[in-house]
Amino acid sequence: MPTLDEIASCISGYDPQALPVAQAQDFIARLVPSVDTVESVPIRSALGRVLARDIVSAINVPAHDNSAMDGYALRGGDLLVDAPTALDVVGTGFAGGAASGDVLAGQCLRIMTGAVMPAGLDTVVPQEFVQEEEGKVVIPPGIVRPGDNRRLAGEDLAAGEAALRAGRVLRPADIGMLASLGQAEVPVRRRLRVAFFSTGDELRSVGETLDEGCVYDSNRYTLWSMLQRLNVDVTDMGVVRDEPQALEAAFRGAAQCADAVITSGGVSVGEADHTKQVMAQLGDVLFWRIAMRPGRPMAIGRIESGGRSAILFGLPGNPVAVMVTFYAFVRDALMQMAGAAREPLPMLRAASVKPLRKKPGRTEYQRGIVGRAADGSWLVSITGSQGSGILRSMSEANGLVVLHHEQGSVAAGELVDVLPFDGLI
Ligand code: AMP
Ligand code: MG
Repeated sequence: MPTLDEIASCISGYDPQALPVAQAQDFIARLVPSVDTVESVPIRSALGRVLARDIVSAINVPAHDNSAMDGYALRGGDLLVDAPTALDVVGTGFAGGAASGDVLAGQCLRIMTGAVMPAGLDTVVPQEFVQEEEGKVVIPPGIVRPGDNRRLAGEDLAAGEAALRAGRVLRPADIGMLASLGQAEVPVRRRLRVAFFSTGDELRSVGETLDEGCVYDSNRYTLWSMLQRLNVDVTDMGVVRDEPQALEAAFRGAAQCADAVITSGGVSVGEADHTKQVMAQLGDVLFWRIAMRPGRPMAIGRIESGGRSAILFGLPGNPVAVMVTFYAFVRDALMQMAGAAREPLPMLRAASVKPLRKKPGRTEYQRGIVGRAADGSWLVSITGSQGSGILRSMSEANGLVVLHHEQGSVAAGELVDVLPFDGLI
C-alpha cells in the first residue's frame, strides 16, 4: 500500500492548497483498494452487485436454429425469383418441441416462433404474407429472401464466449442473460461497507427538538440516500459531538467495521473544532483545498484502529458541498473500492439559457434544470440561489452544470456539460 506522500509524488505539480479536481480524482483512484472477497448469490440477488469473475457461456444461446416468426419454414433454394412458389405443407413445428422430421424439396413446415428449424430449412415466410389452402401455400415472388426470419444457434451467445466481464455492475438485462445461460448462482464481490457520521455541536437529528442556534442534520440523510443508489452496506453512526473522545471513539469504531468512512463538517480551514486533529492523530490524512466550487475543503486518507484501516473521506459541512464532493470524488472511489469497472457517467451538452460568470482555474458545479427546446435540443437554466448551504437548489435541480477547470464565463446560448442526476444510479 503506497503512503499518501508516495501517491502525491506521482501527481505532477501536486499542491494540497490548490488542487485541481482532476488531480484530486487521480490521487484518490491511486489511494483506494478494492474489496477482494467473492461470494456466491442467487441470481435475483445479484442485481446491482459487482460481478467477480468473467462469465463464459457453456452453451449456445439459442441452442438451435429457430424461427423468428409464426409462418412457414422452407428451403431458400426453392424460392422462385420471378414467379410464385407453391409448396406442400407437411407438418407443424411448435416452440419447445424436438425438431420435426425431414422436409423435402418442394415441401414446407408450418412453424411457430421459437420452434426448431428442421435440417435443411433456412428461411421462414411470415404467415401474414401467405394463405394456406388444401395443404399448400403459394409465396408471391420477392416477399422473402433465403435466410430471412431465422435465428441462428449461438447468435445471442456462442459457447465459449465471455458473456459478461468481471467488474460489471449487473443490470436487468445482465440478470436476464445470466438466466438464459442457466446460471442460478452468481459470483459477486462482497458489498462494500461504508460508515458515516456528521460532526458539529449545532446539529440535531430528526425527532429531536431544535434548540436555539441549532439546525437539523440533513447531510446524513443525503449521504444515506446517495449511498443507497450505490448498493453498499451503510452504517449510520449519527451525529458526533465536537469532543475529542467522542470523535476518536467514532473514528475507531468506523475503521473497525467499514472499508470507507465518510464524515461531513469540521474540515474547513478556520474550523475551531477537534475533527481535523483527531483525524490526523488516527491515521495518514491530508487536508486539501480543492480548486472547486462549492466544496473547497476536504480531508482524505486512511484511518487506522485495531489493525484495520478504512479510507476516510472528510467532506465539508455545507449541505450542497457534501453532495457535490460526493458526486465529484466519493462516488467513483466507492465504485472502484467495490470492484466495479470504471464507467464514465453520461453527460449532456445543453445550451445555457443565461450567461454564467466563471473564473478559469477552478471547477464549478452549478445546479441546473435541463429541459428540451422546441427544436428538441437541450437547454439548461441555473436554479435560483447557488449558495453552498442552499439545499433547495439541489432539490429543484435535475442536474449539475459542470464548468471545467480551464473554462471561463459562458455566454447565453453557449453549450455546457451537464451531469443529469438520473444518470447517477
Ligand atoms: P463546517 O464545515 O463544519 O464548518 O460546516 C459548514 C456549514 O454547514 C455550517 O453552517 C454547518 O452548520 C453546516 N452543516 C455542517 N454539517 C451539517 C449537517 N450534517 N447538516 C446540515 N448542515 C450542516
Ligand atoms: Mg462544523
